[in-house]
Amino acid sequence: MADAAPVPLRSFGCRECGRAVAVTDGADRRTVFCCAAHEREWWRRATRHAARDRARALRGARREGRRA
Ligand SMILES: [Zn+2]
Repeated sequence: MADAAPVPLRSFGCRECGRAVAVTDGADRRTVFCCAAHEREWWRRATRHAARDRARALRGARREGRRA
């Protein structure tokens, strides 16, 4: 009775495109992204933002130091 439809082990929305993903295969390790391409896209964007924020924080600290 339970072997007709595969029961999703877990489901999540892709962090990149928002698509709902239901994992039914135990060998499927996806937990955040629907595909490798979206994982790559997301990380590329995330690291770019991190670099920009870090640069901005450094600039701000330097400016405040000069003012003090
Ligand atoms: Zn996606």
